[in-house]
Amino acid sequence: MKKNLETLCVQAGWTPKKGEPRVLPIYQSTTFKYETSEQMARLFDLEDEGYFYTRLANPTNDAVAAKINALEGGVGCVLTSSGQAANFYAIFNICQAGDHFITSNTIYGGTFNLFGVTMKKLGIECTFVDPEWDDERIEAAFQENTKCFFGETISNPGGNVFDIERFAKLAHKHGVPLIVDNTFATPINCRPFEWGCDIVTHSTTKYMDGHATQVGGAVIDSGNFDWDAYSNKYPGLCAPDDSYHGLTYTKAFGKKAYITKLVTQLMRDLGSIPAPQNSFLLNLGLETLHLRMPRHCENAQIVAEWLEKNPLVSWVNYCGLKSSKSYELAQKYLPNGSCGVIAFGIKGSREEAIRFMDNLDFISIVTHVADARTCVLHPASHTHRQLSDEQLREAGVAPDLIRLSVGIENVNDIIADLEQAMSKM
Ligand SMILES: *Cc1c(COP(=O)(O)O)cnc(C)c1O
Repeated sequence: MKKNLETLCVQAGWTPKKGEPRVLPIYQSTTFKYETSEQMARLFDLEDEGYFYTRLANPTNDAVAAKINALEGGVGCVLTSSGQAANFYAIFNICQAGDHFITSNTIYGGTFNLFGVTMKKLGIECTFVDPEWDDERIEAAFQENTKCFFGETISNPGGNVFDIERFAKLAHKHGVPLIVDNTFATPINCRPFEWGCDIVTHSTTKYMDGHATQVGGAVIDSGNFDWDAYSNKYPGLCAPDDSYHGLTYTKAFGKKAYITKLVTQLMRDLGSIPAPQNSFLLNLGLETLHLRMPRHCENAQIVAEWLEKNPLVSWVNYCGLKSSKSYELAQKYLPNGSCGVIAFGIKGSREEAIRFMDNLDFISIVTHVADARTCVLHPASHTHRQLSDEQLREAGVAPDLIRLSVGIENVNDIIADLEQAMSKM
């Protein structure tokens, strides 16, 4: 039976049989028992499916991965220990030393650093492009050795919306897949595969969990990219793997080649798995994702409109506002709402912004975003505090930028808290 997103949030992934627990159990076990040596050998030869070691597969993790896979509409999903690990694995599964990829330059700071600094040390080069450039300028970034294109549905913290359909077409024209980090939109508000994206990643730490209880990530494959059509470019998928009995992933696993390789090679060798306990917590969050997201969006829209009218506020960026340069793209890709994260500036100096935040009552100052509780962060005095105002502008972070992550409390209380904090500035 085909189910809608709301039903999948609650039901997908765990379907207990007679006498089994109704709630997904936490299989907090590193290892799994077999009756004969032969049974175990067949697992290692990939001839039978079954659990043997939690680094490679665990029933709790698999059930939650299956739920996220159903929500995104993929052929397979792997959970990782963080969003950082998810983005690293998504790229490293098809790139090796000497390869190149292209990314939007308006991406999360942690990913920016991973791509520009750490992956460079592994010999993988990355070109950062501005998604507002025209096609000709973007296409100039493609090289012989380019292996994929990367962007975020809604960028963190800028809130820019990525033109998924346009970049999928450009990537495919040059014979590479499009990878999209769908963390802020979640599959409730956007399913990038429907717009031609090939691989989706998530930091499940954010809205998917929604309660700030676990750090995690996910990689989901649409199964749509035809690796064999570019077999010279993707030898890891299309040529025999010596570390796996000479097996060729595309031949052995078809549409599941990419995601199977990610588990059998990268998880086996690098091991960034989530604890089953964390996957259990993530699953509890997912059960209400379809209820929380609309409330985050509804509250954020009201708060953004209130901020825009406030004389103490110099600017507001939220893609639900007509004044946002992402408004049109948001209407196309996020017709039911985007997310709860707003960026805005307070008139005056850095000190003024700090005084505003210190005056807040229940809205807390935390490094996190995208959970049930409203919170703020001032990059100039927190994540980027070592930079001068000039260096901040060069890094694309306005010195007065405040990132407000609107939660699911009563919106009148959120506005009242912002208002009393501003009145004391
Ligand atoms: C937070 C975040 C990440 C990194 O995820 P972690 O779970 O913190 O490792 C990646 N991408 C986006 C868009 C994020 O917001």
